[in-house]
Amino acid sequence: MKIIEKNSTQLSFESAENNLLEFSTSNFGTIDSSKYSLLECLYDKRLNQQPLHSRFEILNSYLDDLKSNQLFTYKRVMTTGCDALVRTQDGKEMIHLASNDYLNMSQHHRVKEAVVKAVKDFGLGSGSVSMLSGTHAIHSQLEKKLAAFKGVDHVMCFSSGYATNIGVLRALLGERDVAICDMYAHASLMDGCVSTNRMIFKHNDLKSLEHCLQKAKNYNNKMVIIDGVYSMEGDIAKLDEIIDLAHSYGAWVLMDDAHGTGVVGDCGRGTMSYFDHQFKVDILTGTFSKAVGAVGGFVGGSKELISYLQIACRSYMFSTSPAIPVAAGVLEAINIMEEEPEIMQKLHENINYFRRKITDLGFVIGETQTAIIPLIIGDDIKVKTMAYQLNQSGILVNAVPYPAVPKKQTRVRISITANLTKSQMDYSLKHLERVGKELNIISTIYPKSVLQDAALV
Ligand code: PMP
Repeated sequence: MKIIEKNSTQLSFESAENNLLEFSTSNFGTIDSSKYSLLECLYDKRLNQQPLHSRFEILNSYLDDLKSNQLFTYKRVMTTGCDALVRTQDGKEMIHLASNDYLNMSQHHRVKEAVVKAVKDFGLGSGSVSMLSGTHAIHSQLEKKLAAFKGVDHVMCFSSGYATNIGVLRALLGERDVAICDMYAHASLMDGCVSTNRMIFKHNDLKSLEHCLQKAKNYNNKMVIIDGVYSMEGDIAKLDEIIDLAHSYGAWVLMDDAHGTGVVGDCGRGTMSYFDHQFKVDILTGTFSKAVGAVGGFVGGSKELISYLQIACRSYMFSTSPAIPVAAGVLEAINIMEEEPEIMQKLHENINYFRRKITDLGFVIGETQTAIIPLIIGDDIKVKTMAYQLNQSGILVNAVPYPAVPKKQTRVRISITANLTKSQMDYSLKHLERVGKELNIISTIYPKSVLQDAALV
């Protein structure tokens, strides 16, 4: 496959066998990034049959165009820790509205002290996978603490949340089973279902779930897969109704509480605690990379489930246990959640303040109830332009274009943290209003209700 410049407005990628793909070019002579989505440049079936270097060329041409048009806002290099105010490599100070460290635990002095002490006492790595010689006393302490904190019988820890979801689902579901996933379930959950049958139900929609459960009658095992708090929406699963319905059809329920831990429930115990522990999922997964402020993942459930997974789960069996200082930091972060509930209280004060102000400005933010505030725009170029312009004004936000979310739901994703000050939020809101008006995302002319209808149709 080679690139042929047919004329100044078209780039063709031609293979020996057939003429496969044509892309319009921009002023920069690269693939016009305003005309194509990442999906079209990365996952097109015809591209996947091509040699790797051709795929590299296409994607790089697309990214070069994004950069030339100043729409590339990814992979900024930070030179300070992950706090409400950060500095990037070019010396710029930015208000951080793109962090998942909702409680700013990565910066808490007790966490830092616990990590330093563990490094001094035990060094860095465990030297092995958990099942061989890689389980340290700190790992065992952490698993016990976490089980009690989350209200499950047993827990096992992984080196990431992604590895947890992939490993658990692949260990449990096979050819004759079916995964019934909420359409907005996290990518790691979807990726865990590749070797089983999969059905998708409408987001948080009981009718749609029931329809799938009825169709799933003939599979050996049925597993309903949800997030506790949805990573792109910020809304909370209808856990009570979902569990009742799933169990009435004999289905298991797996919930990923990555964004619920530290944010909802008593002292941040998560989504089951938010529902007063009246409704218990069969399998709970989560990560330490959000409000816990570290890295790593876990799965919790019955004693029998966990001892099965310790053997059957390949991302556990064949991957080294989390670094000892990380486990020590995570353990301390959980102690802090219990002992310093004022941090979570401050987070919620910030969330309530920001959510009220941003709604008053006329932005459409969906059903969020948590630290994740999506500004739903539905236009990829506006999303990328908004993120870039805010970045230029010293505000760090994430652009979420298609295909990360459906086309009409593309958004700028804001996350609120406990350490943000009122003046940092006010400064951000002032620039959100300015850029929102410049890009015609919000208007002072139309009432909010009209805008909401327009953006969501
Ligand atoms: N689940 C959800 C809902 C997430 O948002 C993420 C992180 N983006 C993960 C799992 C993966 O977690 P980790 O970063 O620990 O791999």
